[in-house]
Amino acid sequence: MVTKGNLSAVLHKVDDLSLEERPIPQPGKGEVQIQMHAVGICGSDVHYWKKGRIGDFILTAPMVLGHESSGVVSAVGEGVTHLKVGDRVAIEPGAGCRQCSFCKEGRYNLCPDMKFAATPPIDGSLCRYYVHAADFCFNCEICLFRLPDHVSFEEGALLEPLSVAVHACRRAGISIGSNVLVCGAGPIGLVNLLTAKACGASKVAITDIDEGRLNKAKELGADYIFKIDPSKDSRDIAKEIENSLGAADQTIECTGAESSFHTAIYATKSGGTLVVVGMGKPVVQFPIVDALVREVDIRGIFRYTNCYPAALALVASGKVDAKPLITHHFKLEQSLDAFETSRTGAGGAIKVMIHCNEGYQI
Ligand code: NAD
Ligand code: ZN
Repeated sequence: MVTKGNLSAVLHKVDDLSLEERPIPQPGKGEVQIQMHAVGICGSDVHYWKKGRIGDFILTAPMVLGHESSGVVSAVGEGVTHLKVGDRVAIEPGAGCRQCSFCKEGRYNLCPDMKFAATPPIDGSLCRYYVHAADFCFNCEICLFRLPDHVSFEEGALLEPLSVAVHACRRAGISIGSNVLVCGAGPIGLVNLLTAKACGASKVAITDIDEGRLNKAKELGADYIFKIDPSKDSRDIAKEIENSLGAADQTIECTGAESSFHTAIYATKSGGTLVVVGMGKPVVQFPIVDALVREVDIRGIFRYTNCYPAALALVASGKVDAKPLITHHFKLEQSLDAFETSRTGAGGAIKVMIHCNEGYQI
């Protein structure tokens, strides 16, 4: 095994992220080695960096960060027939056990043995070379259509947050003519806006407390934007939204803020559906009687299941243009600057992209 040549962004402990050379991993049975290209920074990467944990997932040993990624197959392991060296792939970061009832029912995101990149203790893909399960690498053959040349590595990396939106919009039941409210215009809210439109929603309203993010949402096709003052009564905010949008058939909560969750319930029409994506406090108060007497269905989502092919189809067909989400580019060697930019939102940062291939020019 080569013992260096694999520059990797390793999180040792809270606030201790550094670049170090690691051995180049070799693919085992059913795996491929990927020469990494684009890796997007996700809020969860920043959270592990600054807090060392998300819920019950706790960093106890050094871990490579990064899970929104794409690259080029550089070696194939035994038994891999659908991928070959040179294939450009987007990497779905989590693989279930493929044996349990959840995996067999196609809800592998609920698999208790899920191994997800950059969720402790599993290493992520912010490195030069990464090994992954071949059946969770998506290229044209597996998805039954060609990945056109115009689908870039960056867009391949964006399939990860886009898959979260595909799952949320599916669980919300958004379809032709839907009136949709998206709460929060961060990367996740914005991909939900784009996906809701692609599902046929006729009107999409979006909220945020940040003017810059709302402007981006407008640029991406939001019909209504609402700058929220969280100190105002949630019922009044919901009324204001309803006056423009009408009652929302489906609402997708992407802030994790308790007050926004309240607004989301009040703004959803009777008989409508609220999908909760945002992860905030583990326990919140909410207006349960209002939700139940109006039969507002509240559903959670956890990542995605079987959504990568649809996300890729949305991008490849041009139904979704996620490129405007990318605001900043860095080289792997500049990972710390990239994380700082993502954390602070400096320069209007939304999606910060790190390029792992040697020689990439910004
Ligand atoms: P983000 O922090 O970049 O975006 C959240 C946005 O909400 C920000 O723009 C912020 O200004 C806005 N906001 C905060 N309080 C608000 C309020 N009261 N009203 C309106 N807007 C408000 O995060 P992100 O990367 O876009 O992710 C959004 C949420 O989704 C996070 O909580 C994240 O943990 C969660 N998430 C969940 C899943 C899942 O599987 N359920 C997957 C990915 C992300
Ligand atoms: Zn399983």
